[in-house]
Amino acid sequence: MPERPAQGLAKAKTGKRWRGRQSVIEVHPIIALHGAPRVNLFDVVPAFSRNKLFRRDRMTCAYCGQRFHERELQCEHIVPHSRGGGWTWMNLVTACGLCNGRKACRTPEEAGMPLVYLPYVPSRFEDFLLEGRHVRADVHEWLAARLPRSSRAGTRLS
Ligand SMILES: [Zn+2]
Repeated sequence: MPERPAQGLAKAKTGKRWRGRQSVIEVHPIIALHGAPRVNLFDVVPAFSRNKLFRRDRMTCAYCGQRFHERELQCEHIVPHSRGGGWTWMNLVTACGLCNGRKACRTPEEAGMPLVYLPYVPSRFEDFLLEGRHVRADVHEWLAARLPRSSRAGTRLS
């Protein structure tokens, strides 16, 4: 991968004028550290957010299987919140308003609405992609190559 120079300008204010020298630091886009990490990143559960949930589920309703715009989607508890279902990656899926309203406070079995895909906990690599930051194409490829097969984020997320 090409190295990417980071440029900065060290400035010092002298009177009313800024004067300084430009410095350039060569930084590789991916930095790995030697040694064993104390934490296995695959054991770390990423923080939940609704936008990351929608991206994990590829903007697709878990009940009707249709894709929607983000503003039309809702977080849906598989086991209803009123019945002890948690606000967790494994109990939440993306749903459209119509399906969410139809399912109401029932389990998928009770409502006769089976899930068209299963929830899962994203890995830290996937979480980085789900956060929706601007990720360079080569870094995206590096992260995507480290996703488990169960991940739905192997291709570019929109
Ligand atoms: Zn739906």
